[in-house]
Amino acid sequence: MDFEEYTKKQKRTSPDNSSIIMVALGLTGESGEFADIVKKHLFQGHPLDTEHLVEELGDILWYISEGAKILGVSLSEVAQKNIEKLEKRYPEGFDPGRSINRKP
Ligand SMILES: [Mg+2]
Repeated sequence: MDFEEYTKKQKRTSPDNSSIIMVALGLTGESGEFADIVKKHLFQGHPLDTEHLVEELGDILWYISEGAKILGVSLSEVAQKNIEKLEKRYPEGFDPGRSINRKP
């Protein structure tokens, strides 16, 4: 599935009262759910539930798509801008030195 198709299908479940605040809280909540699965694996002896992690990534994607819609940009634009930033920050690929001394 590409970004355009995802966005079309995601919008179907967007509530009428959607807002940037809902997106901010939703991203935080779903990221917390992702972190909780990792925490349970590392500290509570649970097997790493990769299927559940993938499900939570999907929930995070839903909120990213919703945020993009509210900000008036496409998911493709969000992805493209992120890659452009990373190419500028790490022109030769990831470099720990550039990470430690990175500029905003
Ligand atoms: Mg979730």
